[in-house]
Amino acid sequence: MTEKCAVCKKDIVNTTYVPMDEWNITGNLCSECYSEKIGKHYPGKHIRTNRLEDFK
Ligand SMILES: [Zn+2]
Repeated sequence: MTEKCAVCKKDIVNTTYVPMDEWNITGNLCSECYSEKIGKHYPGKHIRTNRLEDFK
């Protein structure tokens, strides 16, 4: 059973990301959308995908 990303509606192929409360998103995110959201949430910071665990 493949989960769909709440933002782009595509199948989540690798890791499923849980959105932050302040994003007001119901459901889970794919890594692409999560990276994009995190980039907007923390402007000016370059965050690598392998460090996303830090924000849970
Ligand atoms: Zn997505």
